[in-house]
Amino acid sequence: MASANTTRGHSPVGGLLHRYLTRTSADRIDSGAAAFYAGLDTIGAVVPDVAASIVNELADQRSNVKLIASENYSSLAVQLAQGNLFTDKYAEGFAGHRFYAGCDNVDAIELQAAELVHKLFGADHAYVQPHSGADANLVAFLSILATTVESPELERFGQTNPANISDADWENVRQRFVGQRLLGMDYYSGGHLTHGYRHNVSSRLFEAHSYTVDRGTNLLDFDAIRRQALEVRPRILLAGYSAYPRKINFARLRELADEVGATFMVDMAHFAGLVAGKVFTGEYDPVPYAHVVTSTTHKTLRGPRGGMVLCTSEFAPAVDKGCPMVLGGPLPHAMAAKVVAFREALEPNFQTYAHSIVDNARVLADELQKRGGAVVTGGTDNHLVLLDVTSSYGLTGRQAESALRSCGLTLNRNSLPFDANGPWYTSGLRLGTAAVTTLGMGAAEVAEIAEIIVSVLSKTSPAATAKGDGTVSKAKYELPDTVADGARGRVSDLLDRYPLYPEIDLDFVRSAGVTNADT
Ligand SMILES: *Cc1c(COP(=O)(O)O)cnc(C)c1O
Repeated sequence: MASANTTRGHSPVGGLLHRYLTRTSADRIDSGAAAFYAGLDTIGAVVPDVAASIVNELADQRSNVKLIASENYSSLAVQLAQGNLFTDKYAEGFAGHRFYAGCDNVDAIELQAAELVHKLFGADHAYVQPHSGADANLVAFLSILATTVESPELERFGQTNPANISDADWENVRQRFVGQRLLGMDYYSGGHLTHGYRHNVSSRLFEAHSYTVDRGTNLLDFDAIRRQALEVRPRILLAGYSAYPRKINFARLRELADEVGATFMVDMAHFAGLVAGKVFTGEYDPVPYAHVVTSTTHKTLRGPRGGMVLCTSEFAPAVDKGCPMVLGGPLPHAMAAKVVAFREALEPNFQTYAHSIVDNARVLADELQKRGGAVVTGGTDNHLVLLDVTSSYGLTGRQAESALRSCGLTLNRNSLPFDANGPWYTSGLRLGTAAVTTLGMGAAEVAEIAEIIVSVLSKTSPAATAKGDGTVSKAKYELPDTVADGARGRVSDLLDRYPLYPEIDLDFVRSAGVTNADT
């Protein structure tokens, strides 16, 4: 390639690809590893620091157990589908209906993605353009409002196009459009911030109401939700969560939505992989019951960062107008990676994977409880476990998160229902098993992880604040070196047996000097 491109295809930081190919016999060359090395050569020739950060991230992820419930490890094929010229293409509109010339290949990808979503989930219609889960929710909210509020208003003027009515009439339509009622799961009960949290746009667009879990059981109480729905009469009844460890009966919620005249929307961002993998079936599969389902593609579904909207044919015309309603141009490279991930999820072994995620989460919950950990709701039906570290160990979530990270376990602190420590310090940890299951870990390894976690937290204590007046910090903690060293040793023994992307030779990369000096 000539002209504006600064890359010349040979890198001053090691020529990794060449060295890999010359030292590897033809029958042992791994195309994924070769692509990774070639990528580092090409990127490093322009900005060595970015190449170094990629390598450092691999080193970091290889040396810490990933228990972040919203993360996973995508395949190198998924990652490589994103690293190419599709990133340059504008394709506003949707497949077969574009505002740009030259979109034939983007059309092919977008159509294939939608077809694979149909095979995986069985929805009437799929829209795979949203760049993230938050975007997908905005597309869904606005499509539901466009279909159920705006269209009937426009009809009164004999119009379908909002551009054709007067400014004064449009202002009336707009007043009806905003301020509709949304009833979603409370953020502190495990709902997502896009479901009406005060700091999010959803609470500005809607008059947002939220249902909580029961104070005694920490479980959703269908009868209480029904009473609230009858009172609120929401335009949208929204289910789905980021931190709720139990199944939800979507058939009952659909009945309730019908009873109160609401559109039923489910955000399956966290558990889409469990739906695709046939763990959540029947009344626990949201797709046959919801009018609109949104999801991310990068959590349990194990694809690229991104979002999607599935819907009944009633909502399809509005959803397909996600651009210009919410989105700008789609990300064709991300859609290409979605196709790869959906194909992978259609393989029979993805069902085995999805079931193993849940088996592993059960083992994690059981083993933590056996050792005295207080697990919210007493267990789990899905991929995540909420551990109450305040009642179990006298720590805030922040202290527990930091102490474990210092021992090689990466996870996030999380508010528990009705959390007295607030959303910053919190009283809980959220642990997920999707990533370690991708590495191939099973019951024995997860039990070992639970044991390591308890060994650390039971020896961690809150430290005094710098004030010197005896007040106890909510962030600082004390952990004996011997305990931390022991935990780190066990973590590294475990991870040595389950390397991330084993086809990539990190020592080889380091020997070429690609990493920053400090790692
Ligand atoms: C993660 C998540 C989202 C947001 O996804 P992003 O890709 O981070 O925007 C939305 N809803 C739920 C329930 C989630 O868990």
